[in-house]
Amino acid sequence: MEELDIVILGGGIAGLATSLALHRKGIKSIVLERSETVRSEGAAFGIQTNGWLALQQLGLADKLRPNSLPIHQIRDVLIEEGIKRRESVGPASYGEVRGVIRNDLVRALAHELPLGTLRLGCQIVSVKLDETLSFPIVHVKNGQDIKSKVLIGCDGSNSVVSEFLGLKPTKSLSSRAVRGFTNYPDGHGFRQEFIRIKMDNVVSGRLPITPKLVFWFVVLLKCPQDSNFLRNQEDIARFTLSSVNDFSQEWKEMVKNCDINSLYINRLRYRAPWDVMSGKFRRGTVTVAGDSMHLMGPFLGQGCSAALEDGVVLARCLWRKLGQDGMNNVFSRKRIEEAIDDYVRERRGRLVRLSTQTYLTSRLIEASSPVTKLLVVVLLMIMFRDQIGHTRYDCGRL
Ligand SMILES: Cc1cc2nc3c(=O)[nH]c(=O)nc-3n(C[C@H](O)[C@H](O)[C@H](O)COP(=O)(O)OP(=O)(O)OC[C@H]3O[C@@H](n4cnc5c(N)ncnc54)[C@H](O)[C@@H]3O)c2cc1C
Repeated sequence: MEELDIVILGGGIAGLATSLALHRKGIKSIVLERSETVRSEGAAFGIQTNGWLALQQLGLADKLRPNSLPIHQIRDVLIEEGIKRRESVGPASYGEVRGVIRNDLVRALAHELPLGTLRLGCQIVSVKLDETLSFPIVHVKNGQDIKSKVLIGCDGSNSVVSEFLGLKPTKSLSSRAVRGFTNYPDGHGFRQEFIRIKMDNVVSGRLPITPKLVFWFVVLLKCPQDSNFLRNQEDIARFTLSSVNDFSQEWKEMVKNCDINSLYINRLRYRAPWDVMSGKFRRGTVTVAGDSMHLMGPFLGQGCSAALEDGVVLARCLWRKLGQDGMNNVFSRKRIEEAIDDYVRERRGRLVRLSTQTYLTSRLIEASSPVTKLLVVVLLMIMFRDQIGHTRYDCGRL
């Protein structure tokens, strides 16, 4: 059986960021990714100040900035029965917001890793503990077993590792989201703002990435479970276009002229805030990061940035306990457990707040009863008076 020190399961944002953060501290890890290439689904993300602070620590912020426009404000528009009821404009973040193409971010992270760190086409089907030393063993689909001293599950929303930890299953919202890009060869000419429009059962947002490229999403509230009719990218494109039928001509053109291959649809799921608060995020020397730990709806646009923060904090905690001795110390097992406990302690408060605010925002958007709406607004005002306060967070130095 192959034996390794640190294994990271999943080569998405959380997995690559954690591996890179460890590498920056001189700690070697191996990332096992089931896809044959680094995945490109998900089009783009809005990254806010806290995410840029994490990218700074990873040494990537200055490499990514030239490819994306700074966003100056957020505009929220509410339209009901064809009438504009409300429009508000405010800062999108304390500091910096930019849209980043997922592919650019994944490639930038992967590019900085030493050769041989990322193993593609490596799907893990189960995790168990070694009977004598209780170190984790992952079972690969091709029949191979890999034993490691540390296992970090960054395997997204259907995580094998979170199941191993005994975390409660994630929950489903009644919404479905489509994400995509549209390219304007002669320039789009839109303001450098994030615009979000809610019209009846549809919420759609637009974020300029470059002077020619925009990222957009369409969230369909109360969307039926059955999606068998969406068999290919053309079906998704037709379905999305019909969902924005009542939007302005400019908005419909944006959806109509999208890059059809960039379209990505998924049902929105989340880990309940009370499960984030009480979840046991360590078993032996196994833990989780990113969506596997704190899957949340896209309503604050913080999932990716929170995954980057996880990577920085986890690497810092491991380095503090293991230091220069690395894994070759007789006390390493106890120290690894202490490091993971420090990481979980440091992250939990931040993640409970993020997932609670996201959860309440999703409830507000989905609610049809005025009483529920009022209750959620009151809770949001009491708990999150500063709506963009979550962007002030600094995950600290690596
Ligand atoms: C509509 C929408 C809009 C969003 N907008 C934003 C935004 O504006 N800003 C923001 O910050 N976030 C946003 N998010 C959230 C963001 O996309 C996620 O939080 C982020 O991608 C999580 O990264 P991750 O690495 O944890 O998971 P993923 O990116 O899903 O990566 C998981 C990786 O693990 C691999 N994997 C899974 N299982 C296995 C296995 N068994 N064996 C091996 N490999 C495995 C997968 O192939 C994948 O590569 C949005 C989400 C949605 C749905």
